[in-house]
Amino acid sequence: MENDAALFKEKLEKEKSARINAEEQIGQLKRELEKALKQKNTIIKNEPDVIFNITDKGEIITADLPQKNKLFGHLINGEKPTIHNVFSRKNALVFDNALKNCFKKETVQFHFNQKKSDKIFYYEARLVKTGPHEVLAIARDITPLKNSGKQLREALKKAEEISRSKSEFLANVSHEIRTPLNAILGFSQWLFDNAEQKQHREYLSTILESARNLLNLLNDLLDLSKIEAGKMEMDIHPMNYQEVINDIELVFQEKVKNKKLSFNVVTDSSVPANFFMDEIRFYQIIFNLVSNAVKFTQNGIVEISAHAKRTGKKDEVNLIISIEDTGIGISKKQQKNIFETFTRQDSHQNREHEGTGLGLAIVNGLLKKLNGTISLESKPEQGSVFTVTFFDVKTASADNPREAPQKEGTIMQLEPCKIMIVDDISYNKLVLKQIIKSDQATFIEESDGTSALAKLKTDKPDIIFMDIRMPGISGYDAAEAIKQDEDLKHIPLIAFTASTLKDHSKQIHRLFDGYLQKPVFKKDVDFILKKYLKFSYVEKTEAD
Ligand code: ADP
Repeated sequence: MENDAALFKEKLEKEKSARINAEEQIGQLKRELEKALKQKNTIIKNEPDVIFNITDKGEIITADLPQKNKLFGHLINGEKPTIHNVFSRKNALVFDNALKNCFKKETVQFHFNQKKSDKIFYYEARLVKTGPHEVLAIARDITPLKNSGKQLREALKKAEEISRSKSEFLANVSHEIRTPLNAILGFSQWLFDNAEQKQHREYLSTILESARNLLNLLNDLLDLSKIEAGKMEMDIHPMNYQEVINDIELVFQEKVKNKKLSFNVVTDSSVPANFFMDEIRFYQIIFNLVSNAVKFTQNGIVEISAHAKRTGKKDEVNLIISIEDTGIGISKKQQKNIFETFTRQDSHQNREHEGTGLGLAIVNGLLKKLNGTISLESKPEQGSVFTVTFFDVKTASADNPREAPQKEGTIMQLEPCKIMIVDDISYNKLVLKQIIKSDQATFIEESDGTSALAKLKTDKPDIIFMDIRMPGISGYDAAEAIKQDEDLKHIPLIAFTASTLKDHSKQIHRLFDGYLQKPVFKKDVDFILKKYLKFSYVEKTEAD
């Protein structure tokens, strides 16, 4: 019996100690659980995201809400929350859809925005399937991110507006400068051609040169501003390489002769006769490089050499053109930033030469638009070689055979014709008449679109030169009326303008057959006349 009692007591003691152990363990687990819960709450309180569980019926079972959450704080004391009474109708639909997708795809991500006190809050939400009828939703307030993006977009828009008004300002100023330049160049040229005294011819030649320099500077500034604004667009058509190079050679003929330089053109047979290119910009690139070569070379040679390499594709080559000179050369230091704007070599020799330091920056900008590159090799006092490569140039067939070349000692003579000039500034009309200078041409002069249209009812010219900016109806409106009139629409219509704005040029392409920019040069006028009127070449007389 005694034994039994002792055994029972021992068992009781054991059970007691086991219970104490278990209680201690439970206490320990409880403390750990409390700690974990506390940690979770702290995390959630400080967490910018809203985390909640939703059933497949859209009931929100639990919602861990950060203290001042803007999403659905109003629900804490309210009815049983569901996605329909928590969100706007539109957002409830968004959630509904997302829920359906989440049960199919396990997880979905979407965006929504919610208005609160006149403010819009933007959220990024993620749903993750946690059970057969339940998902976990995490919504993050991305309003500050959205707003900073908005601010950036607004700043960009403002910058674009400023850039646009800068371009427009530049275009307007350019228009205002081109108009008087047209008179200066046109009349000085006429006076130069007719001056009898040597001194007068010298003065006039200086006026002409100064006006041309001013025009070049204006064109460079406009080009650079277009390149910098990313608004320089290329106009790719078939061009004939030799014709362009001949034109350039012709321009420098006189200067090269005066400096006693030899001017060589070496064209390898690999160079296609015709290829697709923006002819005006191609001319500008080669012209600028040749102009520098001639400018910075006192004796020796200037050479344009070209060859082409196959790219592997049919009808396509890489075209490599080098402009080499034996001039003053360029130091290693200056070579580093020579293609940047406003860089001029600060040497004694260079100060003797005119220039703005814009030429090579423009060349570089144009080449980028034409899928080209430029490189330079140069040694001071020995000379320079600028090499331009145009990549993937498409060759073109010679569809437009060259017109018969003009023989030396001959001039172009128009057949009898009627030319209408419409411009509100009378000296512009006079300059164009002086340039055309033909006894065979009868001129009809009008000062605005309305009078021109009235005159066209009774008189049909062979060609019309039309200014764009005129009082009353503009050149565009007049052109529109002409091109819609069955009796008039065949008459070649040439825009005659000092404008340089790109959107203008689109309009011009649409309505006009050709384009003549003020100040006008004889070469450009002759090009238009030859294209649209009948003419022949006749021997020059003393009077010419
Ligand atoms: P600009 O000729 O109007 O000064 P560019 O951009 O065409 O402007 O040329 C920048 C500078 O590069 C020139 O001022 C000159 O110092 C140097 N340079 C360009 N081409 C040559 C060359 N062929 N020989 C020597 N120096 C040159």
